[in-house]
Amino acid sequence: MSARLEEPLTKALGARTAGAFAKLGLETVGDLLEHYPRRYEAPGRLTDLATLVPGEHVTVLARVQQATVRRMRSRDGALLEVRVTDGVGSLDLTFFARKAGVLGFHERRLVPGRTALFTGTVGEYRGRRQLSHPDYELLGADGEGADEAIEAASRPIPIYPAGASVATWQIHRAVRTVLDTLAEDEVPDPVPHDVLAERGLVPRFRALHDLHVPTTDAEWRRGRVRVRFEEAFVLQTALAQRRTRAERRAAAARPPRPGPGVLAAFDASLPFTLTGGQREVGATIAADLARDRPMRRLLQGEVGSGKTVVALRAMLQVVDAGGQAALLAPTEVLAAQHARSLAALLGPLAEGGMLGGTEHATRVALLTGSLGAAARKAALLDAASGAAGIVVGTHALLGDQVQFADLGLVVVDEQHRFGVEQRDALRAKGSSEPHLLVMTATPIPRTVAMTVFGDLETSALTEVPAGRAARVTHVVPASNDVWVRRTWARVREEVDAGRRAYVVAPRIHPDDPGAADGPAGPTAPAGRPGTDETDDVLDFLDEPTEGGAPPLRAVLEVAEELRAAPELAGVGIGVLHGQLPPADKDRAMAAFADGSVPVLVATTVVEVGVDVPQATVMVVLDAERFGISQLHQLRGRVGRGTDPGLCLLVSDAPPGSPGRARLDALAATTDGFELAEVDLELRREGDVLGAAQSGRSSSLRFLRVVQDAAVIEDARSAAVRLVADDPELVGAPALAAAIAERLDAEREEFLERA
Ligand code: ADP
Ligand code: MG
Repeated sequence: MSARLEEPLTKALGARTAGAFAKLGLETVGDLLEHYPRRYEAPGRLTDLATLVPGEHVTVLARVQQATVRRMRSRDGALLEVRVTDGVGSLDLTFFARKAGVLGFHERRLVPGRTALFTGTVGEYRGRRQLSHPDYELLGADGEGADEAIEAASRPIPIYPAGASVATWQIHRAVRTVLDTLAEDEVPDPVPHDVLAERGLVPRFRALHDLHVPTTDAEWRRGRVRVRFEEAFVLQTALAQRRTRAERRAAAARPPRPGPGVLAAFDASLPFTLTGGQREVGATIAADLARDRPMRRLLQGEVGSGKTVVALRAMLQVVDAGGQAALLAPTEVLAAQHARSLAALLGPLAEGGMLGGTEHATRVALLTGSLGAAARKAALLDAASGAAGIVVGTHALLGDQVQFADLGLVVVDEQHRFGVEQRDALRAKGSSEPHLLVMTATPIPRTVAMTVFGDLETSALTEVPAGRAARVTHVVPASNDVWVRRTWARVREEVDAGRRAYVVAPRIHPDDPGAADGPAGPTAPAGRPGTDETDDVLDFLDEPTEGGAPPLRAVLEVAEELRAAPELAGVGIGVLHGQLPPADKDRAMAAFADGSVPVLVATTVVEVGVDVPQATVMVVLDAERFGISQLHQLRGRVGRGTDPGLCLLVSDAPPGSPGRARLDALAATTDGFELAEVDLELRREGDVLGAAQSGRSSSLRFLRVVQDAAVIEDARSAAVRLVADDPELVGAPALAAAIAERLDAEREEFLERA
């Protein structure tokens, strides 16, 4: 960044003004210039006063209708009452003072007919909206000549994100002061000239003027288009560099073994044929693994689309090539389950080195914190000696204690709990970088994948293996007793037919305040790697609950109720949540799986990966408290066998509320990609990429991942071309600086949060 943009505001504006700006987080000239207006008022169009909401801090453009000073009867002092109008409705402004004379200043300025911007917090007095002691700025004010006034009055009025300490016009004035003395060469442009020229975009210097002092609406729009592109371009360049750097690093090639091996034996033993998608993605991965560059691939696919089989085949290819594979799950429960299901899929092929094991075989080791000392030692030994071709665990596997003989592939289940830092930590494991395959059942819209996971190649499994039964979702009104009883009766019917039901609630203990263990927004980081705390982290959006709303349902309480419910008399009801000791969790899962306790009341611990084919019903209580993707994951837990699945979303969210809209969307479609798009649309701005997008320090102010798909695509292709020619950006120092400055800390953060 240029020296001028780094100049502290204390120097540019004086200590006092700078102090007020510091409260908005603006420290330098560059900060101030990147504090873009949020919107623009049309000078001729007054603000619709009917839309004001009490308690909101607002800036309105209105015309003075009348102004009167009167003495207060009850106490000392005087009151200036000003009524302003938008031509239809009106708003009261009040100014108090001890002496009537003090009010004369405002009275002389706020004469009927004058138009001004007023800012303050909307209050209510005797049923009327009012602003008390608002700040204001007259349009075409004193001191300006008539021409200037008319010109100024015809320009769009920028409205800045302001605060109590600084009004929008004070920001505007400060920005103008700075812009007036700014020279074009003091504003480096991260977007190279030819990239701008190809797209007809204005240089950065011009864009700053367009945004802060537009003379027409077309100008600020032009400025926004330019800044939006810049945001996408800087990010995409950084991601292209990441990919290029990964491409330059070495990995051990693990080509498929030509002759017989464990993969060939596995393929021969499969009781089904692979789907077209599994074969295709499998071939891509096989080719990736055969290269001496690290694979970095994201595999998306609906729950049940057969990702695990694809991943296992990749692992076996590596084993055949003499290496090992590690499978990382987000929780210990899931790790244990993965280990079981891999061993089951492999059959005798998982009995390498054991009596009765077949010729081409390997071993699956489970390594989790809850293992006993002896089992842990054995597993560590199997990993270190290479006897275990496949090691399953949580992120703790990447810790220092675990040694591998020759780690060739890391498979990560559920990417959203695996950030860039963890991806990078892999490089430290083993002599060369292992190949990486990240699996997710959460469909990610393409633009988000490009933005957030832009350093990974992506593949998708789109077809679900044939023979899978249907899955139906209904919304059940929680306050309707008949429906709720019918819900439990349905559970009963399934249990009587030999099947199982999950009942999910948002909290564990009825007396926990609020939501479960540490509520988290939809994009909050869910647990640290190496811990098992992801179990009960909720994904609900933090919509405030109405005062007096019933408390959220709790697992322990619901379990008690169901044990007493006549519909479920005699049915075993188990409990599963993240606060249980690991042995209890395992026991609860086992009893559920073998049918001895066919109803499991749980937190979202059952969200990912838990696989019990006989489970056919998923009842979610307080369903509106969960996010779309989470509910989609939850219902993916049922109907995995040949029997159809039923998902009942119990909720009191009123029709039309955002919570209800999510549930309706779920009931309407089973297409995960469609839901992911709906999810993005329903989420408020800033939720998509987490705080990083809405925060002041964000590199993304105008770019919106959903609406701006085309911009992101375009920026990506420009970035790829540039990085191919000049990987270290020697010829684009301003771009390199922008990447370092904007993306360093922050990108890591939001990548992890996504
Ligand atoms: P995912 O990991 O994507 O949720 P899985 O790999 O666990 O899906 O597969 C779900 C179920 O479908 C498993 O029981 C698996 O054995 C089975 N399955 C996988 N691929 C096929 C296939 N091509 N045909 C039939 N069943 C399959
Ligand atoms: Mg799976």
